[in-house]
Amino acid sequence: MCIDMTWDDTRSLWVVTFQDTNSGETFKRTAPVVVSAIGTLDRPSVPSIEGADSFQGETFHSAEWDGNFKPSGKRITVVGNGASATQFVPELVKSVGPKGRVTQHARSSHWWTKRGNPTYSEAFKLTLKYVPLAARLYRFVLAWQLESIFFSFYMDSNGAAMRQKIREATYSYIEEEAPARYREILKPDYEPGCKRRVNTATYLKCLHSPQMQLTKDAIVKIGPGYVETNRGEKLPADAIIYATGFQTQKWLFPMKIKGVDGKDIHDVWDAAGGAEAYKGTVVSDFPNFFILYGPNAASGQHSVIFHSECQINYSCRLLRPVLKGNTDSIMVKHEAQKRDLSWVHEKLQHLVFNSGCQSWWMNPVSKKNTFIYPDPMYKYWLRTIFPRWSDFRLRKSEKRSVKRYLVLGCLVAVVATGYISIGAQDGTTTKMEKSTGSKEKVAELVAQYYGAAPPPYFMFPDEHPYGICWRMGADEDYVSFFLNRWGNKTNAMEFHEKSGKE
Ligand SMILES: Cc1cc2nc3c(=O)[nH]c(=O)nc-3n(C[C@H](O)[C@H](O)[C@H](O)COP(=O)(O)OP(=O)(O)OC[C@H]3O[C@@H](n4cnc5c(N)ncnc54)[C@H](O)[C@@H]3O)c2cc1C
Repeated sequence: MCIDMTWDDTRSLWVVTFQDTNSGETFKRTAPVVVSAIGTLDRPSVPSIEGADSFQGETFHSAEWDGNFKPSGKRITVVGNGASATQFVPELVKSVGPKGRVTQHARSSHWWTKRGNPTYSEAFKLTLKYVPLAARLYRFVLAWQLESIFFSFYMDSNGAAMRQKIREATYSYIEEEAPARYREILKPDYEPGCKRRVNTATYLKCLHSPQMQLTKDAIVKIGPGYVETNRGEKLPADAIIYATGFQTQKWLFPMKIKGVDGKDIHDVWDAAGGAEAYKGTVVSDFPNFFILYGPNAASGQHSVIFHSECQINYSCRLLRPVLKGNTDSIMVKHEAQKRDLSWVHEKLQHLVFNSGCQSWWMNPVSKKNTFIYPDPMYKYWLRTIFPRWSDFRLRKSEKRSVKRYLVLGCLVAVVATGYISIGAQDGTTTKMEKSTGSKEKVAELVAQYYGAAPPPYFMFPDEHPYGICWRMGADEDYVSFFLNRWGNKTNAMEFHEKSGKE
C-alpha cells in the first residue's frame, strides 16, 4: 500500500513510498504524476466500546468479513443498520439456523427505498445488443431517473413537495413490509435525502424472522461473552459484527502527502475544517496529483462510477500538456480553488444535506460537507469536459531534454484498485538520465527477451517499450526494467507477429 508521497519540486516528480502489506517491506518509486483511486469507503470505522478487548467470541468489521466465520447456531450481535448491514443481515438471518439469533443494534433510521429486481426479456436484451443506440438510450433513461432525484434536495417548496412523496413512499413501504413492533424504530424523522437513501428488497421482510431482533438500545459495554446495553441488559453474544461504516472524513488516510514547500495535505485540510479540492479532483500546492472520488465530487442520487469516470476524463485532459512534454507540472491556482469551493459550499447551504442530520458526508466537528457536489451530475460532467486553463499554473523546467519528456510521459503512476505504480525505481531513473547505451545493445536485449530476433525498431510505435528504449538509447538495466515491468511477453510476441506482417 502507499504510505507517503513527497513532491520533489526540482525534478517535478512525486517520490512515493509503498509498503508490502505481507512482508512489511517498504520501497520507493518516483513518478511525475500520481492518481489516487483509494476510494473513501474502505477504511473501517469501529466504535471504541468499553471492554471490547475482553470479548472472547469472533468479531470483525463487515468490510473485513471473516471468510471462515460459521454463523449457524450462534448468537450474533450486529452493530449498526446502514447500507452494509441492510445488505448482509437478511442473509445472516437465513444462515443462523433455528438455534441461532441475530440481534441488531440500530442507532438511527434510514430512508429505505424499495429496490426492484426486474427480469429482462430476451427480446429486450437483443434490442440492446443489436439496435443502434438502444443501450445508450436505456442508460440515459436510467441515469435521468437517478438524476431527477436531485430536485428533491432543494430546500424550497418544490423540493419539499418531492420529499413529501419520498416520505410517504418510505413510510408505506415500512408499514407494508416490516413487523408492527419495529415500525416506529424504522421510520426516519429527518429530511429525506439528508443521509444517503438505503435501497433494499429484503431487509424489512427479514425482520419477521423469529431469529431476528432489532433494538435501538445502544451497547455501552462488552464482556467476554455478552454485550451490555444502556438499559443495563446483558445480552449473550458468540460473535460481534461491526457494520459501523467507514472513516469517511479521514481523506487519503493514513498516507502522508507533502506537496510544494513541504506542505502537508492533512494540515491544509485540517486548517480548512475538512478536505477540499478544485472540481473535487486537484488541490493547490499539490501538482500533478489527481484524486478520484475526491472531496465534493460525489452525489446523493447518482452512481459513484459516473463521477469517477468524469474525474478520470478530466484528469486525462489536464494531463495532456504534461504527457505531450509541453510542461512538467500542472497545478490549480489558489484563487481558482477558493472560488470553486466558495461556490460549492454556498450552494450546499440550500440543499437538504446540510439540513441538520449527521451523515457520513459531514465532518462531525466542523459540520463541513466534504462529499457532495451541489448540482446534478450532468452539470459536473459538462464542467469537467472543458478545463478552464486560466485556473491552472503550468510549469516547464528549462533543463529538461526532449528525451526525458518522452520517458516521463510514459511513467505516469496510476494508483488504481489500491495503488499500482508504473514508475521508475529511484535508481533506475538516475541511470536513465546518465544512459550511454547503444541501439545494438537494446536490440540484443529485446532479442533475448523475445527468444528470436525482433522486427526492426521503427516498426514499434512511440509508446512501445522497445521503441522508447531505442529512441532513448537506453542502457542494459533500463531495458531490462522496461521489459520486465511493462512487457507482457504474450502481448509483446503478438505485437511482434503483427508488426512483422505489416
Ligand atoms: C455498503 C456500501 C454500499 C454502497 N453502495 C453503492 C451504490 O449503490 N452505488 C455506488 O455508486 N456506490 C456505492 N458504494 C460506494 C462504493 O464505495 C463505490 O461505488 C466504489 O467502491 C468506489 O470505488 P473506488 O474504486 O473509488 O474505491 P474502493 O472500491 O473503495 O477501492 C479502493 C481500493 O484502494 C485500496 N487502498 C486504500 N488505501 C490504500 C493505500 N494507501 N494504498 C494502496 N491501496 C489502498 C483499498 O484497499 C481498495 O482496494 C457503496 C459502498 C458501500 C460500503
